Amino acid sequence: MSRQQGVLARWAEFLPVTAKTPRLTLGEGDTPLVSAPALARAIGCDELWLKCEGMNPTGSFKDRGMVVAMAKAIEAGARVAVCASTGNTSASAAAYCAAAGIGCRVVVPEGKVALGKLAQAIVHGARIVVLRGNFDAALQAVRVLAERTPIALVNSVNPFRLEGQKTAAFEVIEALGRVPHGLALPVGNAGNISAYWKGFTEHAAREEQAGRARTTPVIYGVQAAGAAPFLSGAPVAHPETIATAIRIGNPASWDLAIRAQRESGGLFASATDAEILSAQRRLASEAGVFCEPASAAPIAGLLKLAAQTPGRFRGQTLVAVLTGHGLKDPQTAIADAPPLPEPIENDFAALEKALA
Ligand SMILES: *Cc1c(COP(=O)(O)O)cnc(C)c1O
Repeated sequence: MSRQQGVLARWAEFLPVTAKTPRLTLGEGDTPLVSAPALARAIGCDELWLKCEGMNPTGSFKDRGMVVAMAKAIEAGARVAVCASTGNTSASAAAYCAAAGIGCRVVVPEGKVALGKLAQAIVHGARIVVLRGNFDAALQAVRVLAERTPIALVNSVNPFRLEGQKTAAFEVIEALGRVPHGLALPVGNAGNISAYWKGFTEHAAREEQAGRARTTPVIYGVQAAGAAPFLSGAPVAHPETIATAIRIGNPASWDLAIRAQRESGGLFASATDAEILSAQRRLASEAGVFCEPASAAPIAGLLKLAAQTPGRFRGQTLVAVLTGHGLKDPQTAIADAPPLPEPIENDFAALEKALA
């Protein structure tokens, strides 16, 4: 059997699966950990590794948790799944529902959903409802729907989502051959930060049991400045940011995220939209990795922390989780780019001149 066998098969011993759980997969997980030496120099750490979650089948880390949530829902007899989504959850849910042959309903907040994500939900055949209100309102609505009907809720308030997502922490440790000093990731609804912490602490407990040292990374949760409830300490009524995947004012996994930050000795940081877009461009032009705006937040946050306290990361191995692919949101990526140049005549002299 190949290693590309998906989250459920590969990590079964650490997941709540039974013989009856369908081994659903689209080949999620096993995403590359890419070295980014130029950005490491800018941040002042020893090594910087990018966990490229955009390489998952639908282009974001959501697939790791979705495959587990969907398999468990099917095991329990569900015929239809529903989620509220800023985009990537609906893209993932729609794909796994299609693969599993069950119905999919997605509720997206009106306004900002990135083009690529919407395309995915549409082509995978989800029934889409656009709700007046923001993500938090959409999540509340589908929670009520799932309580009153047999439709299975697959948002990250579904604990199976976090179980699946924690496998990324196992992969990071496996690929590095050690636990990194720090791990930075974007924080929206706060499911992923909670899942990583679960994965790292479960690994640490196993190490301890085997008589080895208990090591966990420091967790840096980065929010967009216009949607930063963990920095203000209270929900944000009208979250605003270009990074639509983290445009969330009232994170569902609030307590778990606070625990991850406290227990890891970490912190929450924020980055403005300008800093996020700058980090996105640097990732693309200096590391060769094109991620969506939300995914650049951890790099923006690390650059900011490094600027505030020079030498802060000296000697450290850091991991930044790039949660989603850049092609999810091409419009934002080229919004400020100059238009393409006028065509030139097809002769060598003109070409040479144009490229000089
Ligand atoms: C969902 C998502 C996030 C935020 O993750 P949470 O678990 O909601 O904190 C960040 N980036 C991308 C690309 C996402 O799809």
